[in-house]
Amino acid sequence: MDRFDVIVVGGGSGGGVAAARLTEDPDCRVLLLEAGPDFPREEILPPLFTISGEHSWKSAAIPEMDWEFYNADRSGTLNGRQLWLPRGKLMGGTSMVNATIAARGAPFDFDRWAAMGNSGWAWNDVLPYFIKIETDLDFGDQPIHGNSGPIVIQRYKPESWAPINRVMYESCVELGIREAPDLNALDAHAGVVGVMPHNRYKEVRLGTLVTYIRAARKRANLTIRAGAVVDRVLLRNGKAEGVTFVDGKGDSEIAYADEVVLSAGVYNTPAILQRSGIGPSAWLKPLGIDVAADLPVGKNLLDHPGFGMIFKGRGLGVTTGRSFVADVRGPAGPTGEPAWQTHPFPVDEEEGMAGFWTYLTHALAQGEVIIQSRDPRQAPLIDHRYNTVERDRQNFEDARNFCKQMLASATFRRHGAEWVDDINQPIVEALAARLGAAHHQAGTAKMGLASDPTAVVDTELRVHGFSNLRVADTSIYPDNVQHNTNLTALVVGERVAEFVARGQSH
Ligand SMILES: Cc1cc2nc3c(=O)[nH]c(=O)nc-3n(C[C@H](O)[C@H](O)[C@H](O)COP(=O)(O)OP(=O)(O)OC[C@H]3O[C@@H](n4cnc5c(N)ncnc54)[C@H](O)[C@@H]3O)c2cc1C
Repeated sequence: MDRFDVIVVGGGSGGGVAAARLTEDPDCRVLLLEAGPDFPREEILPPLFTISGEHSWKSAAIPEMDWEFYNADRSGTLNGRQLWLPRGKLMGGTSMVNATIAARGAPFDFDRWAAMGNSGWAWNDVLPYFIKIETDLDFGDQPIHGNSGPIVIQRYKPESWAPINRVMYESCVELGIREAPDLNALDAHAGVVGVMPHNRYKEVRLGTLVTYIRAARKRANLTIRAGAVVDRVLLRNGKAEGVTFVDGKGDSEIAYADEVVLSAGVYNTPAILQRSGIGPSAWLKPLGIDVAADLPVGKNLLDHPGFGMIFKGRGLGVTTGRSFVADVRGPAGPTGEPAWQTHPFPVDEEEGMAGFWTYLTHALAQGEVIIQSRDPRQAPLIDHRYNTVERDRQNFEDARNFCKQMLASATFRRHGAEWVDDINQPIVEALAARLGAAHHQAGTAKMGLASDPTAVVDTELRVHGFSNLRVADTSIYPDNVQHNTNLTALVVGERVAEFVARGQSH
């Protein structure tokens, strides 16, 4: 293959933005390698997934475009259940199969990142990028919002909501919870009820396929290879020379570049690094992999664990209308941060069933991603260690108590609401039976100082010890953000493009 200035691995949230922004410079030749299929005619022939799904309580699922990853419950704290961990395997990545909730990280998230040694990542540093990526149709005229970015954000009007959203919202107001019209506002991160912002407009999910990549694909300096599964990065003397990948026909190929950006996501980025010899030597040596750098790649796996509680009542299960709209954020703890948030979902119209989905915004349980062989087609072992930390269980218990208050409110009583699930089951057992992922996984190539034994990349997202190998996806989050993870991944993509451009102009 030709030589490129930059190879971007993975065309998802982080990688789609990175490839698009880098190719705005006509002199920067970029190769974008994506394992899944591409949809070059999507603008005139929209694939159904761009306009369907994720307004019911089921996760988005396109079997042919999913990585088919499962959580290994090695500790047995989920009763040995195999939990599905969906990840998009297509151009646009997980941004094209997600629920399109466009929640930013909170200011205290990024200020905590900075306090961990990541200068340049405090709230005031990242805010310009949250502004740059969006066109907020409701609050775009406000200083903290944008009105000219590629991602259109809007909030569905109450008349279009599935009824359970309205009922939960009103019960929160009855319980004295403050209303926040903009859940991305500075004062809206704890102790509020509000309407979820969505990056979905005129029915189209605005993931990177139909925004950033659409804008970039006509550029002569962008080469897209879909169906290309990257195996490893070629390393020599502390530098990346290129990557090896298996193409759509099953043949091995090599591509060379001055710089490599890995945006293969929270499970696959660590797998590629480990196959390349960057990872814990205790994991790599038994597989016969020469260790180029003994870094904690694949550790620090984070998520927002979630827990569904089902109830029933007159009209509560109606499935028509917008779902994932009303959201209540738990009270501020001692640091000003909430421990949980909850939104409702209709389950079964005929049975009148609906649920509260609660997730922990800052779970303490940390897991790991470990390759099981050198074969890029074999899934890594993924163990989130869900339901292993007592503090996390206590936070779930607090959230469950709040859900009990909501169901006991006059608003819910008017619907004759009653629990279907055993709401007094010991929380550890309830979680073992029903805990699920909120799909906000992060942290497996953590950003931090070189002196930090848990860090993998520096503040310009370079893998420690390698001047031209970077990571740009949710793997780099040193700690999880409070809310949904996608917008922050787009910000990471914006920033890596600037870091690479700055480095190449030197
Ligand atoms: C069901 C679901 C619902 C969600 N809902 C929301 C939501 O409403 N709001 C929100 O903010 N977040 C949501 N998220 C999370 C959010 O979408 C993700 O955090 C974000 O998209 C991750 O971006 P990323 O760049 O890290 O990875 P991805 O977007 O997953 O991109 C990784 C890309 O790399 C490709 N790739 C992987 N390995 C290789 C390889 N070896 N070679 C080549 N290519 C490779 C993948 O196919 C993929 O295209 C949801 C996630 C899921 C699964």
